[in-house]
Formats: sequence, structure tokens, C-alpha cells
Amino acid sequence: MGNSKCLVIDSHCDTPLRLYEGADISKRDEQGHFDFIRMKEGGVDVVFFAIYTSNFIEPDAATRKAMQLIARTYDAVEKSPDKVAVALSAEDALELKEMGLGAIFMGMENGLPIQKDLSLLRLFYDMGIRYMTLTHGGNNEICDSSSATEKRWSGLSPFGKKVIKEMNRLGMIIDVSHISDDSFYDVLKYSKKPVVATHSCCRALADLPRNMSDEMIKALAASNSVIQINFYPPFLDREFFLQFRPLSQEFDEIQQLWRKHPVKYETAFREIKQKINGLKRPSCKVVVDHIEHAVKTGGIDCVGIGSDFDGIEITPEGLEGVEKIPVIKKELSKRGYSKGDIDKIMGGNFLRVMKDVF
Ligand SMILES: [Zn+2]
Repeated sequence: MGNSKCLVIDSHCDTPLRLYEGADISKRDEQGHFDFIRMKEGGVDVVFFAIYTSNFIEPDAATRKAMQLIARTYDAVEKSPDKVAVALSAEDALELKEMGLGAIFMGMENGLPIQKDLSLLRLFYDMGIRYMTLTHGGNNEICDSSSATEKRWSGLSPFGKKVIKEMNRLGMIIDVSHISDDSFYDVLKYSKKPVVATHSCCRALADLPRNMSDEMIKALAASNSVIQINFYPPFLDREFFLQFRPLSQEFDEIQQLWRKHPVKYETAFREIKQKINGLKRPSCKVVVDHIEHAVKTGGIDCVGIGSDFDGIEITPEGLEGVEKIPVIKKELSKRGYSKGDIDKIMGGNFLRVMKDVF
């Protein structure tokens, strides 16, 4: 029996995308990285489901899609009342653990669905959204993206500053993953509460704009904030990123066709998956290297995990799904981390931010 006050928290899981396609996660479902059976097997107490929308759709379409993904999440959770429940506060998560249930929170990945209207932000909060990643792969009305080659605002927009203030007021966590460096420093300047990077790796180990520099990690630590290490192999290892990128573009194209015509594109989809699976993937130990680097840079109180499961085409070797999450604990213990420090990394630090912000 673990200490009931210690929660294992995965702050970013893209399973709603699979729910949208009709996946049934009340059963074991090896097609994806996550289902409620394997969540329990992996000893994971809390998962944040990402309500993700792309920057490359119209704002009205994004608002509608976000609401559909939220509804799918409620549907899926209600179908497994013996395993999980939707949670809205840190207290909910702790109580659910006492009852032997997992807690499913929702975070919105991309602020596009709120358009340019704080009342929509309010409504999404009332629907259960407890963090918002300010943007995704492109600049939006709130701020710039780390992926955009040309920045629009050089940080937060004037509307973005209002969003920060309103998120602080509502008690919604600000997620700084995906945003540009200038936006990141603006957020820390304007937010009166700690923030999180719900799924980000270390730039010192894999030099990519999507990852966080040591200076950023130190700034997070100084504001009681947390970086949650992402499991995505291309973000863990730059060499892998370079090998993987062309295949990944091909994968995306074929997957889109396969979604529309599953029978016709079955073979092509299987072949591209095989090609990707043929690559030598980084080991789960590399995830722990990033955790250790963040600990060495910002201290033990600023690090956690955000798998990005079901949002990634490929996983590290040995970390193929949520049921494998205990390998991280084991590896940390092998490297000499104490039980107390491991508890902080596996969820304690993120729980502290939840208590502080919610
Ligand atoms: Zn993401």
C-alpha cells in the first residue's frame, strides 16, 4: 500500500482524440497507449486528458471540437464508474484515491476554442477544464508558438495578458508547453500563480525549440512551477528527431487517408507503422535522463511527468503504454533517489501546483 497522500499524476494524455474516433477505453485496448484497465495496472492515480484542437482549423470549428472532446471524455468516464471519475479539484483526486478510483481531469491543449472571448474561457472552466495550454503548433490570439517560424506578438498578445489574469482568477492552471520562449517569459511575468509545462523535455539534452532551456527550467523553479517531462522520442533525442521527421510526415498523411477510408489504406497504414517501428527508439532511461537533468537544473520540487500518450505515434523502448509507468520509479530508485523524492517527481510536485491554483 502506498501513502494515500501520494498521487501518481500524468499531466498530459491525448486519449480524447481516440475517443473521438470511437475507441472504447473501458476495455483493454492495445491499439492505443492508454485505457482505464492499464491505468490501474500502472498505478497511475490521476490523468489529465488533453482537449486538443489544431491551430489550423477555424475558431468556431475549434470551439465545437473542444466541446465534443469534453463530452466524449464524460461519456467514457461514466462508462467505467467502478474504475474512474471526473475530478475538478486536488481534494477530489485524493478522495477518489481513498475510494480506489482513478481521477480524470481535463486540460485544454490550445486556447483557440476560447476565440477572443473571456466568457468562453469561463464556460470551459465550468465544463471542467482545469488547465489550458495557451497555444499549440501555431501562433493564436493569445501568444506565439515555439513551432512558428514567424512570431506574431513577440510574446503574449494584449488579449493574452487578459487571459492570464482571468485564468488566475478562475483557478485554471496556465500550461506553458508549446509556447514560444518570449511568451513563456511573459507568462511568468504576468501570472500571479505557479504555472506548469504539462509535457516538455530539456533543451540541454535535445536542442529543439519545443523543449525548455536551462534558464527556463530555473525560472519555473523560482516561481514554484513544474516541468513535466514528455515521453515523445523525438523530443528526448535530437538524432532520433532527425531520422523520424520525414517518416512522421508520411505517417500523418497516410493516417488522415486511413481515417477516411480504413479499408483502402489499411496496408499503407500498417507499412508506415512498421517502418517507424523499425527505427531504434530511445530507451525509457532517456526519459529519466531528462528528469534528472531538470532536477539538477531546477531542483527536486520542479519536475514531474506528462506522457503525451495517445498524442504520439511512437514511445520510448520499455514505456509502450500507461501500464509501464512504474519503470520510471524503478529507474529513479536505481539511480539513488529517495522514496520522498520519487513521490515528488511522480506526482507530488504537480499536486502542489494544483492545490495552489485550483
Ligand atoms: Zn502537445
